[in-house]
Amino acid sequence: MAHKKLCLNCKICFNISHDDVRNSDLTCPQCGNQAMLIAHRFRPPKKEDLRKWKVVEFLIANGFPYQHVSIYEPDRHGIKRFVSYGKYPENMIDAVDFVNRFKKQAIKPAKS
Ligand SMILES: [Zn+2]
Repeated sequence: MAHKKLCLNCKICFNISHDDVRNSDLTCPQCGNQAMLIAHRFRPPKKEDLRKWKVVEFLIANGFPYQHVSIYEPDRHGIKRFVSYGKYPENMIDAVDFVNRFKKQAIKPAKS
C-alpha cells in the first residue's frame, strides 16, 4: 500500500521520498514533529476546515488511517462476498457509524 506522510499538527500531507523510506524518517519537514503514515488515497481537507480535520483525527485514532475497508454482503447462498470498498465519511455522525460498522477492520495504531 502506497503511503504519504501526514502531519496532524500542520494539517499537511507530504509525499514520502526515497530518503525517508531509507531512514524510516517520519518527521514533518515543516514543524519537525512526528508525522504519521497515511494511505496514498487520503485527500487532506482544506487547512481551515477544522470540522473535517476533526473527522480525520477521529478516524485515524480509531484505526482507520484511510486504508481500504471492505463491505461484505451475503450472496443468495448466504455466503459473505466482497461487494465494494467503504467510502470514508466527511462528518462526525457518519464517522461514528463508520467506525462501528468497520471496527473489525481497524488497524491497531503502531506505537512510536
Ligand atoms: Zn508538521
